[in-house]
Formats: sequence, structure tokens, C-alpha cells
Amino acid sequence: MKLLNPGPVSLTERVRRALLKPDLCHREPEFAALAARIREGLQRVYGGPHEAVLLTGSGTAAVEAMVGTLVDGPALVVANGVYGERMAEMLRRQGKPHEVVASPWTSPMDLEEVGRRLPRFRYVLAVHHETTTGRLNDLPALAALCRQHGARLLLDAVSSFGGAEIDLDGVEACAATANKCLHGVPGVSFVLARPEALARESASPSLYLDLRHEGIPFTPAVHACYALDEALQEFFEAGGWRARAALYAARMRKVSVLEPLLAEGWSDILRAFRLPEPYAALHDRLKAAGFVIYAGQGALRHEMFRIAVMGDLADEDLDRLVSLLPGTSGRGA
Ligand SMILES: *Cc1c(COP(=O)(O)O)cnc(C)c1O
Repeated sequence: MKLLNPGPVSLTERVRRALLKPDLCHREPEFAALAARIREGLQRVYGGPHEAVLLTGSGTAAVEAMVGTLVDGPALVVANGVYGERMAEMLRRQGKPHEVVASPWTSPMDLEEVGRRLPRFRYVLAVHHETTTGRLNDLPALAALCRQHGARLLLDAVSSFGGAEIDLDGVEACAATANKCLHGVPGVSFVLARPEALARESASPSLYLDLRHEGIPFTPAVHACYALDEALQEFFEAGGWRARAALYAARMRKVSVLEPLLAEGWSDILRAFRLPEPYAALHDRLKAAGFVIYAGQGALRHEMFRIAVMGDLADEDLDRLVSLLPGTSGRGA
């Protein structure tokens, strides 16, 4: 089965084999060395002074730990999809003062409104790649606004980390996960944060999801760490984020044969297409042929579906997928 959902991804054999490495106690020096190598690798993906903190859990755990630990003043959430709205919900549950600048899911971030409100906020929270629609939000423009107003930018980079350009220079911290563009397995996620941010007193209402623990306080997903370590080695050997972004772009060119949902601003990581037939029929037909596509969310569920090109996919897989999509030559071949 080839997974075309935005994580978990189809694994390479190399990463899958890493799951069979020897049993390991997380209190032994071997695990400390493994964790240190992973943290160093994550830091090296985009460079900069940011330090990596590993968490056990999915991407949402990393976002929630980032928001919980670092937000200690009024926060402005910029939302144009499910994941921006989720960060606002986290702040609400954490009882932290915030406002939301929302735009329709099919529109870009409302930067004019962000600029108007920004002087009153110390933090800005945004999603880099909004997986709801496959939009790559304008990080350079948002980072410039934050810099201008002296606000700290916290980024959900869960579905773009490793697969698109991220200039961490204007970013206080970002959260991401092992099992999307880095091609690891679910179970480990992480936050990359400026050392100053990690040095401040924690604002976390949660014990478990506090970034400011010393060492390795809780039982980590050891095997998922083995897999992430291997996936990072594979990632760097292949040429890092630039090579991965180029690979995704080439894959997306191949599979973009249907009408896209967005008129502009789409990513090469995941794209939303208008449904050419009812979702269930399309999904079931493709699944029978070995492909898992991804449904739309919310009100968009009846309008569109999504294809992500992360993970281990061969050119032949993509050619076969295209031949199965309606309106393309060779359908049913
Ligand atoms: C996948 C994703 C998450 C986290 O989802 P999990 O299911 O918790 O891994 C958060 N934000 C974005 C933008 C995502 O694509």
C-alpha cells in the first residue's frame, strides 16, 4: 500500500529495518548518544542557533508543548485552516490571553489585519504549511511583520519541516514531527527553539508537555528514535531539504492532473484537488489499486480531496496513480 496522506508516510526499507535494532534502555548512555545525534541532526536541517527538544507523541504534542511552554504573554493566532484554529484552541484551554486573525480556509493569511493588531501582542502563532488545503503560508512576510513589531513568532511547521524552505532567522520556535517530510515513523516529535526562549521560565500548565525538562525524563519511543535517526541520515545523504523539496516538486508535477482547489499559494508537499467523483468511490477504487488518498476536512469534505507526496514513492507508483485518476489517458489500464 502506498500512503498519499500527510503522514504517516510509506517507509523506505532502510528506515523500516532500523525498527529492528537492539532493545535499549533509555537510561543507558547508548540512548543518550542516539538522542544527541537526532537533536544535532534536527538542528542541522536548517541551521541556526535553535536547539531541538524531543517529545514522545505526534505533531500535535510538539505544537502543544511549544505553545504551553513558551507563550507567556498575549498571543495573536493567524489561522486559515484546521491547524491554525487548533493552536487557538490550545491557548483557550491553557487559559492564555489571545486573539485570532482568521481568514477563509481557501484564502492566504490576512497580513493587513495582523499588522493592525500586532502592536498589542508579544507572540504570533501561525502554521507554515496549512495541511487543510496544502497552502504554503507566506512565512517571510509574516516574519518581517513580527520583526518590525518585536513579536516572537511560533510556527507549526509539522507538515513542511524538511520538505520546504524555512528561514528560522525570524522564528522563535517551530514544532514538527518525525513522520511527515522527514520520513520517520510516528511516535517522536520535536520543537526547535532559540536558546533564550528555552532559558525563560516555563509557562507550561502541563507536566508532561513541558519543554524544559532536564535530560530524558520519561520513557521515549525508542524504536521511533532509531527510525528517525536512520531517516535523518538518509535525508542528509540525499541532499537535505533542498533535495527533498525538489523531489516533491517533481512528484507533484507528475500527479497534478486534476483541478486544484487553490488558485495560488499551493505547496509541492500536499495538494488539494476538486473531487472529480464522490470521495468514497474515488477512495475505494484507488485503495483497491494500492493507494491511500486523504479526504477533505470540514465543509470542504464534499468538494475536494488531498494527495501528499511524502515518503517512499517510486516514479512507477506515481505513473500508475495518474493512470487511475479520472479524465487521464490509460484509466483502468
Ligand atoms: C499533521 C499536522 C499536525 C499534527 O498532527 P498529528 O496527527 O498530531 O501528528 C499539526 N499541524 C499540521 C500543519 C499538520 O499537518
